[in-house]
Amino acid sequence: MRRKIVAGNWKMNLSWDEAKSLLLGINNFVNRHKPESKVIVCPPFPFLDRANDIFIGHASVGAQNISEFENGAYTGEISGSILNSIGVHYTIVGHSERRKYFHETNEQIGEKVAMAIKKGIKTIVCCGETGEERESGNQNNVVKEQLDVALKNISPEDMVRQIIAYEPVWAIGTGQTASPSQAQEMHAFIRNEVLEPLFGADVANEVRILYGGSVNSGNADDLFSQPDIDGGLIGGASLKLDDFTSIIHAAE
Ligand code: 13P
Repeated sequence: MRRKIVAGNWKMNLSWDEAKSLLLGINNFVNRHKPESKVIVCPPFPFLDRANDIFIGHASVGAQNISEFENGAYTGEISGSILNSIGVHYTIVGHSERRKYFHETNEQIGEKVAMAIKKGIKTIVCCGETGEERESGNQNNVVKEQLDVALKNISPEDMVRQIIAYEPVWAIGTGQTASPSQAQEMHAFIRNEVLEPLFGADVANEVRILYGGSVNSGNADDLFSQPDIDGGLIGGASLKLDDFTSIIHAAE
């Protein structure tokens, strides 16, 4: 049985005052309700340390990005050792916004994943096709190529602890969610046709695959009840306490 995960990706939003009140609200909620699912919140870098101080018990903090380099003269970058040294043990890698605006390639994302693992950080590895790629029927090839390259240096023992997030680009921030059956179809493809050949059936069965792209309190239930959808990576709706906590409820 795979334990579901609800992860919030705040992206580049909120002031510290707003962030603090949201973090306190989430902390309260998870400690009161002790949800069965794992809750991870990924705020902007400057809030990570303080978020870790606020989260006592059930929720974890994650970064939104990590450097592929070990340490050294890389102005503006954040290494896995830095994250680890402040007790941050999760990071998102290869989000489509990083691919689009910062030109991250599948190879670079692979280096980030490998470095994160080396430093003891669990990754949420993002994949997903654009609207054009889906219209031309290419979505499976695109996602397979993204993951084949990003995961190529990972051992099966390490892979069990990693998390995949399928986020179709056309569904991100658009209000246009993939239907539960569209998402399920891709999640099953990722598990059976991508992860299984790379890591074997046992590992493929254990890896959590999250769906992301316009998840909200109204559609989370249907999405999370699909057999291969193990929770969500939530953008906009993770910025509002009521929405985010309803989504955590939906993962029960
Ligand atoms: P939205 O939930 O705002 O569509 O964003 C999804 C996302 O990109 C999470 O990483």
